[in-house]
Amino acid sequence: MTTPHRRHERTARPPSVDALARSLAGSGLPHPLLVDAARSAIAAGDPASAPAVVEQLRAGLLQPVINATGVLLHTNLGRAPLAVDHGAGYVNLELSLATGRRASRQDHAGGLLARACGAEAALVVNNGAGAVLLALAALAGGRPVVVSRGELVEIGGGFRIPEIMEASGARLVEVGTTNRTRVADYHQAMAAESPALLLKVHASNYRIEGFTSSVGIAELAGVGPPVMADLGSGLLDAACPWLPSGPPPWLAAEPAVRQTLEAGAALVTFSGDKLLGGPQAGIVAGRAELVAACARHPLYRVVRPGTLILAALQEVALAYLAREADQLPFWRAATAPVEELRQRATRLGRSPGPEPVACSSVAGGGALPGVEIPSWGLVLPGDHTAPLRGWRPRPIIARVHDDDTVIDLRTVDPADDPTLATAVEALGVVGR
Ligand SMILES: *Cc1c(COP(=O)(O)O)cnc(C)c1O
Repeated sequence: MTTPHRRHERTARPPSVDALARSLAGSGLPHPLLVDAARSAIAAGDPASAPAVVEQLRAGLLQPVINATGVLLHTNLGRAPLAVDHGAGYVNLELSLATGRRASRQDHAGGLLARACGAEAALVVNNGAGAVLLALAALAGGRPVVVSRGELVEIGGGFRIPEIMEASGARLVEVGTTNRTRVADYHQAMAAESPALLLKVHASNYRIEGFTSSVGIAELAGVGPPVMADLGSGLLDAACPWLPSGPPPWLAAEPAVRQTLEAGAALVTFSGDKLLGGPQAGIVAGRAELVAACARHPLYRVVRPGTLILAALQEVALAYLAREADQLPFWRAATAPVEELRQRATRLGRSPGPEPVACSSVAGGGALPGVEIPSWGLVLPGDHTAPLRGWRPRPIIARVHDDDTVIDLRTVDPADDPTLATAVEALGVVGR
């Protein structure tokens, strides 16, 4: 085997790292990254591969992609899509324009979200996991928290209720069994312990079917201690007053924030970037004194959100209050009429080549497991996901089903259809 060094001796002298890096300047990437690319291409004994290395570097950067997976809340693609229009400049993050005094960064988005879901108060943190951790630490640090064994879930990304509980300093008291927990189990735990909270966790990403029972919020609220409900998905209101035709059938089993609070939960926690359709955030909403206790806890300082998130979430909250949340990109995609998707698929699919096909989208993001949302897309024989991912300037993320590539149009912005058409045509696929 020839080492790269030997090979250089026998062939032409390799170009200098600097000259090669400068030759890549057209890529627009900063010089130090081009130096890295040049170095690694020369080290591999293949200076001509430098442009490909640069392309790899570029592909590693955060960039817009076309989500053709049909997964509405794709965690790998940033969950809910959101347009952020945030000019440079200072904002009144913690300043009252009325008094000129220091105010709270929770006054705008937090206050509006509370109003939108019917809570006394709400607090915004960086993500749903942070909301749960903060609430448990602030309200139950060093004290028992009762949870059904059927709700000791793992959400994904390493979020496991028993571990979060331990990290918060609260002491987990398990009751019931995996499939059945009754209200008597909670009463029994009450008699033995003096719990700070009863925690109910929405088993977002899986379902237990068959011989099961669990205790509803209203019944739990009658047991005694405050009930905290980790809802996860953040559907604001089961009636979906922001959707002109009401809640779609696929949402039927999803617990909602407003109704959970009305049923008697003292506190709820949920994510900003799941069914709420906002930026990555976590929201703690409920009784004012409990939310205030969360805001006073030292951990709040660790999980507090920044201006970008709060500005985006304020827009989302205003959209809900104006009953215009159907215009949020997530709800637009989620509720796009099947007939509209079929027409788009028919326009894009032509024979021979990709064919229009009826398919099913899913909510994703650990929400609504097993629930299918009717959709339309294109089917291409064979696995073409790699070239589609390599499409520039907008990588296209599709899925493979039964050895076919499926491009689901529900999650594709109609404005991206022409890009999709060009990319699919470039594949040169001939249909069956
Ligand atoms: C998603 C989810 C979480 C975690 O929220 P992140 O925003 O992903 O941190 C916690 N609890 C439940 C029930 C969830 O569904």
